[in-house]
Amino acid sequence: MTGTVHTVIVSKADMMRYYDPERIQGYCRTCEKYGQFWSCPPFENSPLEQLPPWTHAILVTQKTWVEPGSTKERLIEQFLAARQILVNTLKHWERDGCLSVIAGHCSGCSKCTRPRGIACQVPSKMRYSLEALGFDVTALAEKLAGQSLHWPKSGVPDYLLTVGALLCRDQALALAWKQNESAMQTAPIHPQHHPITIQRRT
Ligand code: SF4
Repeated sequence: MTGTVHTVIVSKADMMRYYDPERIQGYCRTCEKYGQFWSCPPFENSPLEQLPPWTHAILVTQKTWVEPGSTKERLIEQFLAARQILVNTLKHWERDGCLSVIAGHCSGCSKCTRPRGIACQVPSKMRYSLEALGFDVTALAEKLAGQSLHWPKSGVPDYLLTVGALLCRDQALALAWKQNESAMQTAPIHPQHHPITIQRRT
C-alpha cells in the first residue's frame, strides 16, 4: 500500500468556514462507534471549545492508492490501515503547542472506558477527529488543501483520502513546523505520547 502526504498551513478562521457541528456530528449517529469513545459524539459540551488555544493548523491529507480489483472488504481493510498510518504519523508529528487531530476514533487505550460509564482515564492521550469536532472534512480537503475525495458511482476508487490536522498555538509554531517538515517526513515513525491534556467537562 503506497501513499503520499500533503500538508498546508491554514488559519483557524479559514477552518471555521467549514465548521458545522450540528450537521457533521449528526452523520456520526449512523456509525457503530457512536457514543463508544469519549472522543466521539454525543458530547455534553462542544469539544472544540475545550481544546488548548490555537490560531493556525497544519492540515494533513494522505492519499493512499487502492489495490486494483479490490473487493469492498479489501477496500475497508485498506482504509482502516491507511487511517492507522495517518494516526501514527500525526501523533509522531505533535510538538509542544501543536496538538494532533487524528482520523477516526481515539486510540489512546486498547478499550475506551465510555461504554462502562467511566470518565476518560488518560485525557493526555485522548485525541479527537476533525469530524467529531464538527468540521466538514470533505470541504476542508477540497477547499483548503486542494485535494479531492474520490468516490466513483461504481467500482472502487483509485485512491483513499484520509485527513487530519495539527492545531498550533500560533502562526509562528505552524511555520516552524512546516520548515522542519521534510526532516519529519523522512524520520521513522514510532508513535509516542506527548502529555498534552485536553480538559473535558463531564
Ligand atoms: S484516552 Fe482512552 S479512555 Fe480516553 S477517550 Fe481515548 S480510548 Fe477513551
